[in-house]
Amino acid sequence: MYKLIMKIRNLAVASLSLVLFVHMGALAHSSHSAQQDELSYWLKIKATNKYERTEIEDLGIPIEVIKDDYVISYGSQENVEQLKKRNLLIASSPLLSLSDFPPEDGIYHNYSEMQEALTKLAEENPDIVALDSIGKSVEGRELWHLRISTDLANSNQKPATLFVGGHHAREHLSIDVPLRLTQKFIEAYRSGDARVVRLMETREIHIIPMANPDGAEFDIATGRYKMWRKNRRQNKDGSYGVDLNRNYGYQWGTGGSSNSPRHDTYMGPAPFSEPETQALKTFVEKQNNINLLLSFHTYSELILYPWGHNYNPISDIKDLNVFKKMAETMSQWNKYTPMQASELYKASGDTADWAYGAQHIFAFTFELDPTNTLGGAGFYPGPHIIPTVVQKNWEPFLYMMEYADNPYRVLEFNSGLLSF
Ligand SMILES: [Zn+2]
Repeated sequence: MYKLIMKIRNLAVASLSLVLFVHMGALAHSSHSAQQDELSYWLKIKATNKYERTEIEDLGIPIEVIKDDYVISYGSQENVEQLKKRNLLIASSPLLSLSDFPPEDGIYHNYSEMQEALTKLAEENPDIVALDSIGKSVEGRELWHLRISTDLANSNQKPATLFVGGHHAREHLSIDVPLRLTQKFIEAYRSGDARVVRLMETREIHIIPMANPDGAEFDIATGRYKMWRKNRRQNKDGSYGVDLNRNYGYQWGTGGSSNSPRHDTYMGPAPFSEPETQALKTFVEKQNNINLLLSFHTYSELILYPWGHNYNPISDIKDLNVFKKMAETMSQWNKYTPMQASELYKASGDTADWAYGAQHIFAFTFELDPTNTLGGAGFYPGPHIIPTVVQKNWEPFLYMMEYADNPYRVLEFNSGLLSF
């Protein structure tokens, strides 16, 4: 089954690597010494199964694209040497020079624009939108949170869904998509869309669009994209950043993450060592009504569910069936491939494993569009992609609210696509 899925996915991007090399002709190679933490190489790495892929993640190299017998990643000069030593490197190439949000890419929201957009939503819709901060980042930026409900005075009463974006700095689309879905939702409510009105009246919706504001700002701050992934913690060895999606405290450090601070999948010195993950934890624990969670990432067009830290499936069969049913239902709308996260490779300490393992929240990770990797375009797909990605994730967005009262309802006959 898995093999088949991968085969199907491969068809869409056949001869990708060939195209890449053609386009790699005119490159501006970033100065490596200027910023050692920067990732400056595109990497094609030998790996034929999830065990070999996990070994790569263990080296601190995050995998972005998986094919039958290789994976695509981005890494530093150090990573290139590591892989060469192990005879795993098929090819590497300096990344294309990428500029800061150019005028066209300006429709992506940086931190202050995000702050403005959220403030505007709250000010214009005081009856249904409340804005607050769940805490501060390492560099002191607010971790903004929107609560949406027709009954703001009585928080924590109605079944709730939490949407989170932007754990990884360079995944700017994962910040814009939850923001724009939220704007669309509020517009639909104002225009009297019956389904949205019903959801608004019977559910509570939480949106934390930018879980890693320091990283996102760093990624665009100097006039070029830096391919940054982690937060901006200064580590003991002088390097920067903890991978927030390896820092959650459920089965933390049990594979698919690195304990070397220099690495891109660095798990941090302890579970929840970072203020960003700590704030998320405190917020979720304080709520007692969140039953569903969706964490947006980019890219690869996947719907992932726990476990990430364990190759085995969830042992509770009923829960597993809920995850499978929900993932498959949502995939019919956005056409993303549903699978258990560890089928890709092991990753411990991620949001979804913690949310399910420690809080019994049914938690999913979306890897949004696109699937191609051209010169880093996977993370920087341009502005044209935004409306499409918002549109194809609109139904999954509503579906994640719909079943917040009781996710087990999806197992009832004819649930899912026919439920609305
Ligand atoms: Zn990510």
